[in-house]
Amino acid sequence: MNGSTAGLPDTPTQHEQHGRWPRAQSVEDFRHNLSTVNGRIADACRRAGRDPATVRLLPVSKTVDEAHIRLAYAAGCRLLGENKLQEASRKWEAMADLPDLQWSVIGHLQTNKAKLVARFAAEFQALDSLRVAEALDRRLQVEGRGLDVFVQVNTSGEESKYGLPPDEVAAFVRQLPAFSALRVRGLMTLALFSAEAARVRECFVLLRSLRERLLQHAPASIRLDDLSMGMSGDYEIAIEEGATVVRVGQAVFGARSTPDSEYWPVWGEGRPSP
Ligand SMILES: *Cc1c(COP(=O)(O)O)cnc(C)c1O
Repeated sequence: MNGSTAGLPDTPTQHEQHGRWPRAQSVEDFRHNLSTVNGRIADACRRAGRDPATVRLLPVSKTVDEAHIRLAYAAGCRLLGENKLQEASRKWEAMADLPDLQWSVIGHLQTNKAKLVARFAAEFQALDSLRVAEALDRRLQVEGRGLDVFVQVNTSGEESKYGLPPDEVAAFVRQLPAFSALRVRGLMTLALFSAEAARVRECFVLLRSLRERLLQHAPASIRLDDLSMGMSGDYEIAIEEGATVVRVGQAVFGARSTPDSEYWPVWGEGRPSP
C-alpha cells in the first residue's frame, strides 16, 4: 500500500519509459497505443471505483509533425494538446481542412500571445496570472467567443514550474468572474517528475483537496469540476486520485527527441528528482 491514500494499490509510475516510448508510424500504431492507454485508464478507474466515462484522454501532439497528426486523426483523435502557441497555431492553420480537429493549449502563455489563443484554441489549461486572464478576456470579447480555461497550480513546490502556489489559488479564482469570456472548468497541474510514486501521488492529492476547499467558497459562476493531471508516466496514479483529464503525449505518439527543458524549466537534463 502507498502511504497517502488508504485502499488504493501501490501503482508505480511509468517514468522508466520516458524517452523510450515507441514512435507511432501508422494508423494501426495509433489505434494500438490509444487502446492500450484507454485500457490502462479503465483499469485505474476500476481500482478507484470510478466510471471511465468521467476521464477524458487528451493526446498531446507537441513536436509531432503534420503527417503523423493526420494518422492520429484517422485513428480517432479530435482534440489535441499543444504546449507552445506558435507551434499550435501553425498546425491549426495547416490542418484547417479537418474542421472537427480542435486544439487545447496546455503551456505557459505570454500576454502578447493572447490574441492568437483567442482566435483558434478550444481550451486553455495553463491560466496562472490575472494579466493573462485580462488579455485573453479582452481578445475573446473582440472575437465574440468564450474559452474553457483551467487554472494551473504548482503542486510540486518546484520553483521552476509554472502555476500558482496552492495558497494563492482561492484569491485568484475569486477574481475570475470579472472575465466573462473565460469559462473556468477546473484546475491543472504537473506533478513532481519522480520515480517515487508516493511523492507523485501527493501532488495529485494536493490538487484534489485544493479543489474540495475551493468548492466551499468559489463564486457561483466558477465551475471546478475538472482536474487535469497526469501524463504518460503518471496518469494512472492521477486517475486514482480523481483526474478527469489526462494529458498524454509519448504513450500515444512515441518518445520526443526534444528534451523537457524546451517546455518547462527543469532541474537539469534527465530531471533527477530533487
Ligand atoms: C508534454 C506535456 C504533457 C505530456 O507529456 P508526456 O510525457 O508526453 O505524456 C503533459 N502536460 C504538459 C503541460 C506538457 O507540456
